[in-house]
Amino acid sequence: MNKEDKQVQLKNYNRRSVLNYIRKNKTATKAGLASATGLTFMAIKKILEELEELGLIRCDEMEKVSVGRRALTYAINESYRYTIGVHINKFVTSIALMDLRGNILASERCGKAQEFQSQSSFVDTIVEKIEKLIRETGIEREKLLGIGVGAPGPIDMENRVILTPPNMSLLNYLPLAEVLERRLGCQVHLYKDTNAIAFGEYWDGEGTDKSNLIYIDVDMGIGSGFIVDGRINVGANGIAGEFGHITIDMNGPLCNCGNRGCLEAMSSGIAVLRELSQQLNYDENHPLYEKKDNLAIEDVFDMAEKKDLLTLSILNRSAHYMGVAVSNLINILDPDIIIMGGIMIQNYPRYFSIVQSVANTRKVKGAKENVMRISSLNGNAGVIGAGEIVADNFFNQGINEVFLKHQGDGRE
Ligand SMILES: [Zn+2]
Repeated sequence: MNKEDKQVQLKNYNRRSVLNYIRKNKTATKAGLASATGLTFMAIKKILEELEELGLIRCDEMEKVSVGRRALTYAINESYRYTIGVHINKFVTSIALMDLRGNILASERCGKAQEFQSQSSFVDTIVEKIEKLIRETGIEREKLLGIGVGAPGPIDMENRVILTPPNMSLLNYLPLAEVLERRLGCQVHLYKDTNAIAFGEYWDGEGTDKSNLIYIDVDMGIGSGFIVDGRINVGANGIAGEFGHITIDMNGPLCNCGNRGCLEAMSSGIAVLRELSQQLNYDENHPLYEKKDNLAIEDVFDMAEKKDLLTLSILNRSAHYMGVAVSNLINILDPDIIIMGGIMIQNYPRYFSIVQSVANTRKVKGAKENVMRISSLNGNAGVIGAGEIVADNFFNQGINEVFLKHQGDGRE
C-alpha cells in the first residue's frame, strides 16, 4: 500500500468514526466529537464540512451547552437514504420503512406466517407490502439501502436460509434473503429475530447509551441476542444466543430440542402451559379443569389476574428459574444492561421483578445491581433493529463507496 492509500484509509476511518458517533448519540457538538475521537477541533471541523457537503449530516439549531453558551449540533441527515425492516414472529410479520435515524415512516403487518397456504404466498405478501410502503411514502427507489429481516431461528447465516424454526414449519429451509433480493432488486440481510430485537434496543431502545447489551425474549419459547461493543455477536456458526437451551436441571422436563431441563422447558410460555395442564389433573374443582388439555397462554394470564394460587405458583417458579439463568449470564458476561421482552414479561409483571431479585441475589459480588430493564419499544424493537442492521452495514461498509465517489469527482 502506498503512502497516499494509507492517508485515504485513515481519512475514511476518521470520517466513519465521526459518523458513527453522531449516529449513536443522535446529535453531537464539535467539542463532543473531538473528545470522543481524539481528533483535533480543526480536523473535526473539516470532516463535518465534508460530510455536510455529501449530504450525510445536517447542522441543527443551536444547543445550549452551558449558561449563556450555545453550540452547533450535528445529526445524521435522516432522509439521505432509507431502510426496510421485516420482523417475523409466531404471531405477526411486521414490515416498516425507516429513515436513517430509525424513525418509522410507514408500516404494514401480515398475519401469522404459519397460517399462509405456502411459502410462496407468504413471500408474495411480504413483497406486496414492501412495494406498497415504497409507493405510499414516495421515496425514490435508488435511495433504498436494502432490507433487514429478523426471522425465527435457527438461521444458516452462511447460506442465508431459515432452517427449522419450532412450530413454524411453513418457513422450513426458506432461502428468504435470496428470494427477496431477486424479487425486489436490493440487498437483504437475514438475522435471527432475537438478534434484530437486541440491535433495535441498542440503537433506539433501552440500550442507546450502552455498548454491551443482552436481550432476552421470554415468549412461548426463549431466545436471546447479544450485542458486544456495538456489534451483533452471532458466534462461530451463527447460533450464539440459544439461551433457552442452557440446562437448568439435567433430569428436568423434555425440551423441544431433545435435551432435558433446558431453560425453555422450565421458564417459557410453553413450559408454564404444560405444567399447569399437568397440575390440573389433580384439581377437579379448578375453573380450568375442563379445559386442561386445551389451554391457551391467555388462560394463564387471566387466572394470574384473578390471583389463582396454582397458576401464580407455576408462573413464579418459572420466573425463579429464569432469575437463576440470568445470574449465570451476568457472571459470565458482565453486560452493561439486560433487556427483557416477550409475552411473559408483558402480561405478567411479577415475572420481571422475580427475575431481577433472584439475579441480584445470586450474581457474584462486584457485578452491577439492577442491570435489567423491560423493553420499551412496544414490540417494535425487532422491525427497527432489522432496519438498523441495513443502516449499520451502510455506515460501516457502503459508505466507503460514497467517499470513493467523492474523491473521484475531484473534490478533494
Ligand atoms: Zn432445549
